[in-house]
Amino acid sequence: MIAMSLAEIAEAVGGRLSDTANPETRVTGPVEHDSRKIEPGSLFVAFTGEHADGHDFAAAAVADGAVAALVSREVDAPSILVDDVQLAFGKLARAVVDRLPELKIIGVTGSAGKTSTKDVMAELCRALGPTVAPEGTLNNEIGLPYTVLKVDETTRYLVLEYSARGIGHIDYLCGIAPPGIAVVINVGTAHMGEFGTVDGIARAKGELAEAVAPGGVVILNADDARVAAMRDRARARVVTFGEAESADIRATDVVSEAGQPRFTLHTPNGSAPVALKLYGAHHVSNTLAAAAVAVELGMAAEAIASVVSGPLSLSPRRMDVFTRADGTTVIDDSYNANPSSMAAAINALADLGKESRKIAVLGYMAELGDETEAAHLQVGELAARNDIDIVISVEEVAAAIAEGAGLAGSIAYGVDDQAEAIAKLDELLDVGDVVLVKGSRYRTWKVADYLRETRN
Ligand code: ATP
Ligand code: MG
Repeated sequence: MIAMSLAEIAEAVGGRLSDTANPETRVTGPVEHDSRKIEPGSLFVAFTGEHADGHDFAAAAVADGAVAALVSREVDAPSILVDDVQLAFGKLARAVVDRLPELKIIGVTGSAGKTSTKDVMAELCRALGPTVAPEGTLNNEIGLPYTVLKVDETTRYLVLEYSARGIGHIDYLCGIAPPGIAVVINVGTAHMGEFGTVDGIARAKGELAEAVAPGGVVILNADDARVAAMRDRARARVVTFGEAESADIRATDVVSEAGQPRFTLHTPNGSAPVALKLYGAHHVSNTLAAAAVAVELGMAAEAIASVVSGPLSLSPRRMDVFTRADGTTVIDDSYNANPSSMAAAINALADLGKESRKIAVLGYMAELGDETEAAHLQVGELAARNDIDIVISVEEVAAAIAEGAGLAGSIAYGVDDQAEAIAKLDELLDVGDVVLVKGSRYRTWKVADYLRETRN
């Protein structure tokens, strides 16, 4: 973070310094809520979680080098006392943003692909200048300000992921880090349980488009009607991306070679061929979104094409393809799942495994509310329609996947847990097979890890 004195921090967050805190002392190190990550000069932030209370670690954090703790009750350490640590954390991040008027904040939201798109955007921004972006998914009231607090005076680009678990969430996050460039990639059925309807989700995601001040840019997916309609809510200039003819940043001649998309990228300043090393047709859309940002930042089509065609590293468990010594190929897309990302991954499996026997190990999709049963059934049917030979559903709550797949013509097994799925794979796997592993958070991670650990 940029160096700030405790007095400046207290003022920014509306807090009071403890008697033991020296107002002149400066925070120069990272702002951390995990006491194990404290470095000399850190500010320790005492969140009260379900399992642990950060206040219990404040004194230890200071002993380890933190100059003070941000707290909501008195502790035996120099501290800044506030009513609500989470709100104060956000205010501190905002204060840092306000001190860096040259910083370009680029925000992305959507139902599926925020982190993947953020990773591609960050790679493009890094080609232009010092960039801060979160590792993995840090997109909520804690993760977003945490990332913001990583910037310093040298940072040119701050790439952030904004999650919406309800109406008003993105508004709150934009209050912390107002994006100058905002990208909405898609609206699907993620977190349906909390919103009720897809239109509710669109309303929430659209807050990002509304947040951009005139003078900024709102980048919308021309291929997603609910996203394209956010044009009416934008106050800033709108740029669109997609395969639609109307799109400003466009892909044509999209083909896939062994699961890896190739296309021609068209921008207002030229066109260039792209050959992604990422797997899955859905990355065409994500790449276009990132390319649209790069165009706004002044990058030429060739330069963009060369970065996105390079070896991009996505965050873990997203379309991670590897080959095992037994001659099988694994697509680990186990990070998370919802109906649209399931469809994207099944398509990628069908494509990558065109000439092979295809096996999908699919787990539960969380947060679907009343749609849960039907959505799982549909995923199973979709797998069968895409000629996935064998479908293994993991856990009773996902059994409808195997049911749907079986009814539509795949060989289907419903197993009760990940250990059983692993045993089933051990029994089935054969040279040349391609296996997809996917489910909501952690529900298929053991299967993916088993396949990765036994790759040699
Ligand atoms: P979260 O809400 O969990 O933070 P996210 O929006 O950040 O998710 P990613 O982590 O990038 O999304 O990807 C989640 C899953 O969605 C992965 O399985 C990924 O392959 C898939 N995915 C990525 N982009 C798209 C897309 N444009 N359409 C559908 N699925 C996608
Ligand atoms: Mg994410």
